[in-house]
Amino acid sequence: MTITHHPDIANLMCCAAGSQPEAFAAVIASHLSLCKSCCCEVRRMQQIGVALFDKLEPAKMAGPAPVVAMRAGEAETAPQKDETTPAHHPCCGMTAGGVPGPLVPLVGESLDTVDWHWLAPGVWVHTVPLSKGCCGELRLIKVAPGKKIPEHTHEGQELTLILRGSYTDALGTYRQGDVADLDEAAVHSPVACSKMGCICLMANEGKLEFTGTLARILQPLLNR
Ligand SMILES: [Zn+2]
Repeated sequence: MTITHHPDIANLMCCAAGSQPEAFAAVIASHLSLCKSCCCEVRRMQQIGVALFDKLEPAKMAGPAPVVAMRAGEAETAPQKDETTPAHHPCCGMTAGGVPGPLVPLVGESLDTVDWHWLAPGVWVHTVPLSKGCCGELRLIKVAPGKKIPEHTHEGQELTLILRGSYTDALGTYRQGDVADLDEAAVHSPVACSKMGCICLMANEGKLEFTGTLARILQPLLNR
């Protein structure tokens, strides 16, 4: 697998700090399981974070320990591993069914047995449930060969990981393992690979809004 599009550095920093919303954390964790380069980068960030904590003067706490302090404590006691197996993001790869390790508890072991719902001609969707109270949206999207995801815009950031096949939009071609990191200004309509189609995992900070006439009619089907 050759990965050419990686998450923005800010997303990797949020991941290292453990402060990412659940939907985005699922996409980043899945990418890390496939991308040794980003995996090592996140581990390096975590080590820097722990080193910075070590330099802080102890202070009496007024309340329960913050999560970040507990994480630093965990890192100190974690067994040392080599560069290819970071402590917090093991590079476990994909199942035979094309699902990255961190995603298996959410969608099962195979993309072929996911409960797909028809969204538009050649487009199917599966909404991945998030923990109660979590904001954002997470879904798998499957696009038939040569078909396109209806043109859409989104409130806030959109993070997409390609799991199978590829797609092309105005920003380039994204293949298995690549991440498309788009802000809310982006309006795009990716076209799936003419041979394999495309299955991707998409996290949205806010609502995904289709912009075409037909797509707007289909909008209510998105969150079944
Ligand atoms: Zn990467």
